[in-house]
Amino acid sequence: MVSFIGDRQKKMSNSNAVIVSETIKTVLSAAVSNPSLFTTAVQKPPVIPGGFFPVSKKQMLRNLEINVGTRNLNSWVDSMRASSPTHVKSTPLTAEETKLMLEHPSALDLFEEIIHASRGKQIVMFLDYDGTLSPIVDDPERAFMSNKMRKTVKKLASYFPTAIVTGRCRDKVYEFVKLAELYYAGSHGMDIQGPTKDKEDDEEAILYQPARDFIPVINEVYRLLVQKTKLTPGAFVEHNKFCLSVHYRRVAEKQWSEVAELVNSVVQQYEGLKCTQGRMVFEIRPDIEWDKGRALEFLLESLGFSNCSDVLPVYIGDDRTDEDAFKILQKREQGFGILVSNRPRETHASYLLKEPKEVMFFLQKLVQWKQLTTGRRSRV
Ligand SMILES: [Mg+2]
Repeated sequence: MVSFIGDRQKKMSNSNAVIVSETIKTVLSAAVSNPSLFTTAVQKPPVIPGGFFPVSKKQMLRNLEINVGTRNLNSWVDSMRASSPTHVKSTPLTAEETKLMLEHPSALDLFEEIIHASRGKQIVMFLDYDGTLSPIVDDPERAFMSNKMRKTVKKLASYFPTAIVTGRCRDKVYEFVKLAELYYAGSHGMDIQGPTKDKEDDEEAILYQPARDFIPVINEVYRLLVQKTKLTPGAFVEHNKFCLSVHYRRVAEKQWSEVAELVNSVVQQYEGLKCTQGRMVFEIRPDIEWDKGRALEFLLESLGFSNCSDVLPVYIGDDRTDEDAFKILQKREQGFGILVSNRPRETHASYLLKEPKEVMFFLQKLVQWKQLTTGRRSRV
């Protein structure tokens, strides 16, 4: 059974993570290194360290459009569109999507297969928050999870060690989840705290914060982004302590490329930061070798499972940043990732669930199975 999962994972393709700043750097580097990309009508600008040149935004966009073509710029906007819940296709699956669906079947349909793989092993649960436990909503400040979902996660945590792994600020996600018995890895895993249930002081439970030195620069970039996005109706900058999110869910689609370009122009000014694109959001974070995948490994180690073969980590998430965790599981050949997406897509996860409601059913099934096999009912 495990080899079946392994075989399926081997067929999976590379991550489709989009690194916006890298995309722009690539586009600009290509333009700089290949003079033929510039038409004679546009003067070749001087190169400055880092491969960038001081041209106005308008000029730069025009250069990209005229000389490099609109493909790269459009590809971010296409990517932004694809991540938008308002652009969910209701058309039948394409041949490619059908193939992906066969490679990554529903975790509900193949629940027995998952249970079989967990035989004799300790299941450890890792759950993303937005789009996984709560629906994606227009106002990120109101991304509440339902009471039913909270009850389910509470029961789940009474049987299996459970962690919330999110790009959000840890305190913010705790306000939403409100369960002191969980592990929390906020700021894309850069702010890890153990259960606070029996702790007098929350600080006591802090386990790891690898990006502490970046706090001043993150604060500065936050102020700059707030100031720069003031003129873009609907844009919202969220401070997540060790990283920042620029939400464009409520920005008119015709201004999305403007948001992408604005975010990139700020990030470029700071060494040691990187920008990635998530679902209707740009994520700006320290460019350190730390992500949700590393947080998963750290938590497994903290729980005493670093070199164990009798552990089955299960990671459920909907975002591109969750692919880092799916990749780690694939590399470890241990456990499996479950992608939450209403359309099949390229992923390093093994299974799919369509939406948070299906995540809840899956978690409820796990709880029921555990109750049946142990004969112990949760007291929560
Ligand atoms: Mg998410």
